Amino acid sequence: MFTTRPPLLEVKRNGEPKTATLVKASSRLPLPGSKLKRGPDEMEGTLEPAKKRIRGLGAVTKVDASRPRGPLLSTVAQDRTAALKAPKKPGPRGATAVSTVLRNRKPAPTVSAPKPATSAAPAVVGKKPGKRPAWDLKGQLCDLNEDLRRYREKTQALDRENQGLREQLREVQEQATNLGTERNTLEEELAIVRTQAEQGQQKLETLSARVVELEGWLGTKERLVQELQQEQLQLQEERQALGARVEEQERRLQASEAALSSSQAEAACLRQKTAVQETLLAEQGDRLHGLEMERRRLHNQLQELKGNIRVFCRVRPVLAGEATPSPSFLLFPPGPAGPSDPPTRLSLSRSDDRRATLTGAPAPATRHDFSFDRVFPPGSRQAEVFEEISMLVQSALDGYPVCIFAYGQTGSGKTFTMEGGPGDDPQLEGLIPRAMRHLFSVAQEMSGQGWVYRFVASYVEIYNETVRDLLATGTRKGQGGECEIRRAGPGSEELTVTNARYVPVSCEKEVEALLHLARQNRAVARTAQNERSSRSHSVFQLQISGEHAARGLQCGAPLNLVDLAGSERLDPALTLGPGERDRLRETQAINSSLSTLGLVIMALSNKEPHVPYRNSKLTYLLQNSLGGSAKMLMFVNISPLEENVSESLNSLRFASKVNQCVIGTAQANKK
Ligand code: ADP
Ligand code: MG
Repeated sequence: MFTTRPPLLEVKRNGEPKTATLVKASSRLPLPGSKLKRGPDEMEGTLEPAKKRIRGLGAVTKVDASRPRGPLLSTVAQDRTAALKAPKKPGPRGATAVSTVLRNRKPAPTVSAPKPATSAAPAVVGKKPGKRPAWDLKGQLCDLNEDLRRYREKTQALDRENQGLREQLREVQEQATNLGTERNTLEEELAIVRTQAEQGQQKLETLSARVVELEGWLGTKERLVQELQQEQLQLQEERQALGARVEEQERRLQASEAALSSSQAEAACLRQKTAVQETLLAEQGDRLHGLEMERRRLHNQLQELKGNIRVFCRVRPVLAGEATPSPSFLLFPPGPAGPSDPPTRLSLSRSDDRRATLTGAPAPATRHDFSFDRVFPPGSRQAEVFEEISMLVQSALDGYPVCIFAYGQTGSGKTFTMEGGPGDDPQLEGLIPRAMRHLFSVAQEMSGQGWVYRFVASYVEIYNETVRDLLATGTRKGQGGECEIRRAGPGSEELTVTNARYVPVSCEKEVEALLHLARQNRAVARTAQNERSSRSHSVFQLQISGEHAARGLQCGAPLNLVDLAGSERLDPALTLGPGERDRLRETQAINSSLSTLGLVIMALSNKEPHVPYRNSKLTYLLQNSLGGSAKMLMFVNISPLEENVSESLNSLRFASKVNQCVIGTAQANKK
């Protein structure tokens, strides 16, 4: 601000006192003979210098003190103009000095001062003295004094002006100070503003980054929005489809509801019918139960008519490698009803070698005819054989003790009949698996009538009057002895074998597993004592217990399937070695138990008061299944070979005796 005041500075820089300059300027003298252009004032001053000086002074006094620069500047400019207009050729000394001064003066920059004092300029010009003759020194002095006075006034005016300017300067300096303060304040504010600007910049940068981030996010959002819009479209389509489906479902629902209401009506109707049916069913159940009881009674009656002791004879086929017997050796005459009638008779021819030796003629043959309840020739299948005894198995379910024996010499087919042939051929399955399957199947049917059956199996071997468990497992496996026949409890009729396993069974597989185990146990024993199995009785017992909880009925009876020891006798003619003695003892034990069996049957048949059950372990064990209410079936197994004729005859004779026995009316064990 200070620098923009050139007029003031220009005044100061000038250095040279203005008065001196002005004095020199006003002391110039015109050159003789030169044409000097003059203004009206100069012309006037020439005529009346004093007057004009007074007028000039008067004009000076009229200068506005409040504008001190105007007259000064105008005067200087006027002087310079006058000097410039002066001739350049050298003049008198005084004039030359004034011109030099004028030439040396720097052009006043105040010409462009903002306040031109146009009104003062004519006054200064008008005060100029006119041209005095060189000799008029007094006049010149007077002029100079006048000039001096005038310049003093001017000086005073300039002082005042200067004073004014100083005041202005002071004001300006105050202003400058204020402005400086203001500037500082502003600079501080500026600093604050800069800081704020920087902060703002930082914020801006942060915001820009945020904007970039948001733009990115916005882009993602837009993509998401697009995806969502697509999804929305899909959902709308799905919704439409679902809406259509819902409508369809609603239509179906309505149809279903209509159907349901009609069904409910039907159901109500059916419920009524069901109630009637249930009443009828209950009546039918009662009738059925009555019929079942009647069936059992009739079945039993039939069995009794057939005989409580029945004997079936089975002749095994000739095996590969065996000598084919003469066709007339064994004959099976047809029954009274013809060839379609199942055979019940068997005719065996035996040549009388003794008579032939005596007479020398060919040995005559003696025919031995036997009649049994049924005879199975060699070709008979296992299923055929079982069919005949299935009725007896049914009797066991009805609560009648049943005992089925296989009697015959070793190799006649007892084991084949009871357990089955070798391998897994189901057609060769014996009576035991078939009887079990039949029992399980009938028990299942009877469950529909409210009967619940339980089956518990045991399998023991009686060898040389000792009992051994054939179902033993683990450490007891293969060990004989230790088993004893005891009453199940004090006062109980039921007999049980101590240390023997009694295994609950409910399906064929379990029975198969037990038979397999028994075979294994027999095999172990066989290695210890050769062919022991043929000299021991195998007793498979199944305890059957049935219950009809609704009617409070119970029934229970044992089913015994006995594979007897070989019935062959020892030839007394043979010399007995040390091993043979054991064999003899075994045979005697076998014979003893078999004959005891015969004697027991006889005693039962003859209704003797004492039945010798206890004479053998076998009869003792089977005591509850022999006689009384029990039903008995004996298979007499016969070898088809002529060489076995003697044993076959013995077996047939034994079986015939049994067959002749009639044991009293069997009683079912009902409680
Ligand atoms: P046992 O038990 O009376 O000593 P097996 O039952 O062991 O006699 O029979 C002796 C042999 O005869 C066995 O090889 C057996 O397979 C066979 N066998 C027995 N009966 C028949 C039959 N009905 N059909 C076919 N083979 C039989
Ligand atoms: Mg056998």
